[in-house]
Amino acid sequence: MKNRQELPESASFETLSVRAGTVRSAEREHSEAIYLTSSFIYESAAQAAAVFAGEEEGNVYSRYTNPGVRMFEERMMALEGAEEGCATGSGMAAILGICMAHLKAGDHVICSRSVFGTTVTIFGKTLAQFGVTCTFVELTDLEQWQAAMKPETKMLFLETPSNPLCEVADLEAIAAIAHEGDALFVVDNCFCTPALQQPLAWGADIVMHSATKFIDGQGRCMGGIALGNKELIQPIQLWQRGAGASLSPFNAWVLLKGLETLKLRMDAHCRNAQQLAWWLAEHPKVVDVHYCGLPHHPGAALARKQQQGYGGVLSFEVEGGREAAWKVIDSVQIISRTANLGDTRTTVTHPASTTHCRLSDEDKLKAGIAEGLVRIAAGLENVEDLKADLERGLSQL
Ligand SMILES: *Cc1c(COP(=O)(O)O)cnc(C)c1O
Repeated sequence: MKNRQELPESASFETLSVRAGTVRSAEREHSEAIYLTSSFIYESAAQAAAVFAGEEEGNVYSRYTNPGVRMFEERMMALEGAEEGCATGSGMAAILGICMAHLKAGDHVICSRSVFGTTVTIFGKTLAQFGVTCTFVELTDLEQWQAAMKPETKMLFLETPSNPLCEVADLEAIAAIAHEGDALFVVDNCFCTPALQQPLAWGADIVMHSATKFIDGQGRCMGGIALGNKELIQPIQLWQRGAGASLSPFNAWVLLKGLETLKLRMDAHCRNAQQLAWWLAEHPKVVDVHYCGLPHHPGAALARKQQQGYGGVLSFEVEGGREAAWKVIDSVQIISRTANLGDTRTTVTHPASTTHCRLSDEDKLKAGIAEGLVRIAAGLENVEDLKADLERGLSQL
């Protein structure tokens, strides 16, 4: 007999992240089982007919549903406060699914300029092929969001805090602009995870994640998810089932394990990032530090209001442009030189020549991506070791 663990209404975030969505098989395994199967078998032809017709609960094919993938969806639904979820093979598949389900030729989208690079490609190029236009605006400039609204605007999309400058969007205000024009408000919550921010509570209609980052948290696998009410998520499920953008059952299991430590890890990422930010802000070789946990940061007040922590990602600028930034990056012995983030391992990257290398010099300037800018995604190592690692390069400047 299957055994769904029922949790009391009062269960808190930490409890939900460890236990929500757990359904045990007849073997009564304690940890979640992994369902590595493409299809499912039936007791009788009549039962097959009932499951195919949706009259009896059950699975048909893992491109549609898989018990382990469903557990991941249900745990994420509990953590984001969402009625429904659709897991996908990657974060980008979640974004494309949201677009394919909710946009059509002639529609218009407004997107923050400071979103993940591939997201810019989706909104700026891929969707353009299908007659969907997009206006890119400054994340924190409400007047630009308002001014970009047109009768055919169907979706507003952003990430907050932004990468790599940690700018913070006013979720309530942008939700109000979207809803005044009957548009959907979609938030990429990858940098905060529900442990630090729950965008649906601030008026977002759909929240999505690259689970590849902090949700896995250990750099092991790809995954994504879109969450919201049934009416908005069911069309995404329908698209996903046709597109085959399904999350692998094995990855779903890895992500379930990641969620169990999410709150602990996010608190530790925030602590390390905050301490690095304070230390860098005092450092004589550092001209500027971008972290919304610093009181002088323009997003500090909003972050205090809508986040339960300032996140694990920060950036800082050194004098001497690219050469100086590269010296800091090339001198590390512990920190990983990679553009990835959301890992137990701290990473360092030079945005101007990696994540933002495709921008023109003028666009980099506009986006605040200076040649001397270095981005850190704080991991879980000892913070004194991280400071010493950065000091190796900084002391040479
Ligand atoms: C990585 C990332 C994505 C894309 O997710 P994938 O899992 O790599 O497809 C989208 N948004 C943000 C903010 C990301 O960091």
